[in-house]
Amino acid sequence: MARIKKSFSGPTKHKHQNNSINDVLTMSKTKQTYSGNCHCGAVEFKILTTVTELTTCDCSICIRKNAVMLKVHESEFELIKGADSITEYQFHTATARHYFCNVCGIYPFHRKRVTPDYYGINIGCLADFQSTDVPVRETNGSKMK
Ligand SMILES: [Zn+2]
Repeated sequence: MARIKKSFSGPTKHKHQNNSINDVLTMSKTKQTYSGNCHCGAVEFKILTTVTELTTCDCSICIRKNAVMLKVHESEFELIKGADSITEYQFHTATARHYFCNVCGIYPFHRKRVTPDYYGINIGCLADFQSTDVPVRETNGSKMK
């Protein structure tokens, strides 16, 4: 199957624009449910989303976590259990909300700084997630002021 990487990076296209590439992508990209959990299992969540790209980030915290991330809207995210086991960590502008399991220390997801209604999900915490064919985009959080 052909992969079209650039189509997702631009601004939102007009709804009535007739674009055969987007039609093909819409047909081949249906939303899927993925279950996720931290290492010890205290934190469980699930997402229902369309996977078009993954990201890495070189900001001071991401470079330490070294996670490959999937961006999902908050409406596509559900915490199943573990609210009491999640510790929040903030730094710098205190806009992004970085979470980790206070039992096993794993980072399962965070709230994004530039787009706070989105979660970044650690794909290493997702069960049965196939990342092989998904393009990975390097973002430069370290360049944000
Ligand atoms: Zn845990």
